[in-house]
Amino acid sequence: MANTNFSPGLNQALALDQQDPLRKFRDRFYQLEGGKIYMDGNSLGLASKDAEDALLRVLEVWKKEGILMWNIDDGYFFQYARILGNRLAKLINAGENEVIVAGNTTVNIHQLIATFWQPTKERYKILVDDLNFPTDRYAIDSQIRLKGMQVEDVLKIVKSKDGIFIDEDEVIDAMTDDVAVVLLPSVLYRSAQLLDMERLTAEAHKRGILIGFDLCHSIGCVVHDFQKIDADFATWCNYKYISAGPGASAGLYVNKRHFGKPVGLAGWFGNRDETQFQLKHTFDQAPDAIAWQTGTPNHFSMAPIEGVLNIFEEAGLQHIHEKSLNLTAYLMYLIDQNLKPFGFSYNNPTDDTKRGGHVSLVHEEAYRICLALKQHQVVPDFREPNVIRLAPIALYNSYEDAFKIVEVLKQIGEQKEWEQYSAVRAMVT
Ligand SMILES: *Cc1c(COP(=O)(O)O)cnc(C)c1O
Repeated sequence: MANTNFSPGLNQALALDQQDPLRKFRDRFYQLEGGKIYMDGNSLGLASKDAEDALLRVLEVWKKEGILMWNIDDGYFFQYARILGNRLAKLINAGENEVIVAGNTTVNIHQLIATFWQPTKERYKILVDDLNFPTDRYAIDSQIRLKGMQVEDVLKIVKSKDGIFIDEDEVIDAMTDDVAVVLLPSVLYRSAQLLDMERLTAEAHKRGILIGFDLCHSIGCVVHDFQKIDADFATWCNYKYISAGPGASAGLYVNKRHFGKPVGLAGWFGNRDETQFQLKHTFDQAPDAIAWQTGTPNHFSMAPIEGVLNIFEEAGLQHIHEKSLNLTAYLMYLIDQNLKPFGFSYNNPTDDTKRGGHVSLVHEEAYRICLALKQHQVVPDFREPNVIRLAPIALYNSYEDAFKIVEVLKQIGEQKEWEQYSAVRAMVT
């Protein structure tokens, strides 16, 4: 539970940093040049020395071994997707060989929908919400079209009433007899709402519906227990809270009760190890989640995961989650204390059990305020139309960072600094 005894003033921030058990991990990460304060680790986590070392090691192995690298160390690099998957699995408490590292979130959604959505005349709908990250929808819509069906007929969308939060009761009410599969995010990328995956899964299963989750905005920040949640499938990217670098290979989870289910998108790395190199033209499906691998794994996009997992294992996800909640609670406290008169508010759950890892700061001039923040050496994250996401990352952000940002925002508010900037949007916001 987050601390609620906050007080104004820099002294408390410094004291909280002093007592922070994760404090030492900050030095394992490269801070940006010019002393910039980074609050965008939920878009792209910072580089660490651990990630760098692991990446360079794979490069060395390739230099020294060439193709022989597949066979050294008992096939460590041949089994890389499985080995890293089993380490990542601990972050969501998944079982042995239920997680692999492969592809990206989008292609994994294609893979999982192609596998788990097997429409029949009676049960053919896919249930989604209208606040999920758009790529999830693009993938689902194209899977529907690939089957020669109409998106309007197949897709069932639970609409948010306020455009900010999803009402779980409404999702459950929409789980009707014609629904085959549900795909939802664990944490909404804009409002940071954390859905009750265990409850949603139990309700889906009661009705004979399969359910999967996109964990992009919670993996590495929120403790999940997939043995308990018992969802059918999940996927996530590893470049946000996990901090494995741009384009890091993604995670893919398949519940062991589905092992052996024919994979939607088959490829030779999903073949059983023993027969893979016989190169037969009939697919001999691997007996666990490795079956959902397609082609050759992307070692350079996987190595940083190996490095950074050392940090996660040393720090402990429980501590990371606690500090994350405390940092966002502290930010909310400071916003309440300092920023209300200048038109700021926040649209994220205040309840610890319902909040992911960021604060969703709202202001009608959010876009231009982000430009001003950059001028003040703060790296924030803008989301249309009026949201500034502030993601203090437990492993490398401090309470002092949170304090300073609110001080900067106060100054921007007092001086109406946004008036100096154009509201014309840049390409990547
Ligand atoms: C970041 C994010 C993605 C990104 O998908 P990629 O294919 O990895 O680029 C997808 N879904 C959600 C919810 C995200 O937050």
